[in-house]
Amino acid sequence: MKETPVLKSSDPAGANQHYGDNPIEVRDTDHYKQEYVRGFVEKWDELIDWDARAQSEGQFFIDLLRERGKRQVLDAATGTGFHSVQLLKAGFQVTSCDGSAEMLAKAFENGRKRGLILNTVHADWRWLNRDLAGKYDAIVCLGNSFTHLHEERDRRRTLAEFYAALKHDGILILDQRNYDQILDRGFSSKHKYYYCGDQVTAAPEYVDESLARFRYDFPDGSTYHLNMFPLRKAYTTNLMMEVGFTSVKTYGDFQENNDDADFFIHVAEKS
Ligand code: SAM
Repeated sequence: MKETPVLKSSDPAGANQHYGDNPIEVRDTDHYKQEYVRGFVEKWDELIDWDARAQSEGQFFIDLLRERGKRQVLDAATGTGFHSVQLLKAGFQVTSCDGSAEMLAKAFENGRKRGLILNTVHADWRWLNRDLAGKYDAIVCLGNSFTHLHEERDRRRTLAEFYAALKHDGILILDQRNYDQILDRGFSSKHKYYYCGDQVTAAPEYVDESLARFRYDFPDGSTYHLNMFPLRKAYTTNLMMEVGFTSVKTYGDFQENNDDADFFIHVAEKS
């Protein structure tokens, strides 16, 4: 397929996203590495206002882990390192994993700026245990990352790899956007990406049962996109149970029994 750049505005980092002639046809799990190009990764920290995000999340993940006595944590979707840094600062032993080398480099730099050395592992979730040594008390896969898997076999495989990388009583904490709301009722502009900075607009440009294409507009006029799989809440929790997790508890925007949330956080227990 002939590919043409989708990004129309200037991109000082010189790395454009490529979605080809028909962007909504791009529904490929391997595409995530091309989506997080250098220009986008550089701006990701603009998209994610760390202070605002830290404030909105509060101690939620730290409390979840501490209450259960978890210490060794795998941050499976490190991105630019937000959760790895928060968890390290809170005293957890953290391994920071991502399939994108660009993201890991940025995360490492972000850690160093804060006086921390991140222990990074470059690995795709689908082959996670090939690249990891040891087992973890907990795996966190946050920031709506699991949505990047477009094929059901990749989602099953990833959850099975997460399951295998956990100790016998380990937990998986995985979040996702509330796609049921978007698929069934349309996107409401009052609902904002909970970790978005004020300056960045994130909204779906196209949605069907197997694609949510989001557009991110930055203050400098640049525009980036992400093509994601719209995970229905019940589908995700069923899949978790099917690969072997014994229970899944779901929070909506950090609260129990809140189906009207923007984001769901699933806590899956191995035993
Ligand atoms: N967790 C971070 C946060 O909340 O700021 C980053 C989230 S970012 C939306 C998603 C991350 O998942 C990206 O860094 C991407 O490289 C990673 N990712 C997507 N698919 C992956 C895969 N199959 N294997 C490993 N990493 C993957």
